[in-house]
Amino acid sequence: MENWTRRKFFLSTLAGSLAASSRRMFGASVPVGEAAFPQVGTQASFKAARPLIVCAANGFQHLNDGMEILKSGGDTLDAVLAVVTKVEDDPNDDSVGYGGLPNEDGVVELDASVMHGPTRRAGAVGSIQKIKNPSLVAKTVMEKTNHVFIVGSGAEKFAVDEGFTTMDLLTDRSRIAWLAWKASSSENWRPGLDSPEWKEKLAQLLDTPEKMAWREHIEDVVMHPQTGTINCLAVDAKGDISGTTTTSGLSWKIAGRVGDSPIIGAGLCVDNDIGAAGSTGRGEENIKISGGHTIVEMMRKGMSPTDACLEALHRVARNYKPFPERLKQFHIQFYALNKNGEYGAGSLWGMHPGGRRVQFAVHDGAKARLVPCTPLFDKEGGDY
Ligand code: ASP
Repeated sequence: MENWTRRKFFLSTLAGSLAASSRRMFGASVPVGEAAFPQVGTQASFKAARPLIVCAANGFQHLNDGMEILKSGGDTLDAVLAVVTKVEDDPNDDSVGYGGLPNEDGVVELDASVMHGPTRRAGAVGSIQKIKNPSLVAKTVMEKTNHVFIVGSGAEKFAVDEGFTTMDLLTDRSRIAWLAWKASSSENWRPGLDSPEWKEKLAQLLDTPEKMAWREHIEDVVMHPQTGTINCLAVDAKGDISGTTTTSGLSWKIAGRVGDSPIIGAGLCVDNDIGAAGSTGRGEENIKISGGHTIVEMMRKGMSPTDACLEALHRVARNYKPFPERLKQFHIQFYALNKNGEYGAGSLWGMHPGGRRVQFAVHDGAKARLVPCTPLFDKEGGDY
């Protein structure tokens, strides 16, 4: 709490009012008693369709690319990768690939996984630097090695050996956000007491009109370490299934921290007989319940995709039984589809901070749509 208070002071004195943000962090208490839980087993499924592709909301505008591959009889893994690589390439999505927010040392470290249902194979990379498409490196691990998971400098060397190009993944906006975060955490990174610019760090960083436009965003990511990520799952007309999850992980993380995204059975799980599941949001909570695997196993027992996601969320919430008020500090979402083309998504909270509804994206062959996730608590949650 002390740390947050210091940051709040720093930002409110140096960068303008943060009334809205602080309300989110310290706001009205949210009832999180078990009585508020929706009952698993009561959630209607969406109408089944094949081929079908679902993903986190940040992939919405690229779902057509994946659906075209599915409709033309292409492979389900190629379909999901067609969606997520566009997000990895996008400098404005600061939770994935190029432009992702860095770790506490200012270095962008990416995690990704893939699973190919028809051949029952998987590949993953963790903490990989300088390669903007970790999902494609994960696919290469799957296709060209006898391993499933390669991390750190070994993953980067592997990628370079396989012909991937290295580049600086830190955009100017992400670099400035990182410097602002450092300044919020340590006085050493602010202008000195003797400086005319003392207390003016953010203004100093945002020294052009173009950069000034980033101010609200930067204040937000400094106050609320971001999670983001894209998970994408597809089933084709034959019922073959694949999935991928790719992320820059939790912003300002300790170097080498790996979240759930590249963990097979947590951030992604595909069983070609049953279905697939994936996650975005606070990976630490997902890893503890093996969310992806849990959801696939629940679907194996006959649960709808939406109910299976809610079951995983119940387990996340159960882990906070001794301190339920802490649940409102973070967000987590699960996405699932089954072999018949039924699909669903669940979110711990119904709304992002600020009141925006938590959604996911689906293309059922007719058109791409954004659909609200089924919330465990239909309230505003945290972003951590
Ligand atoms: N799940 C990712 C992680 O924990 C982050 C996210 O989805 O936002 O690394």
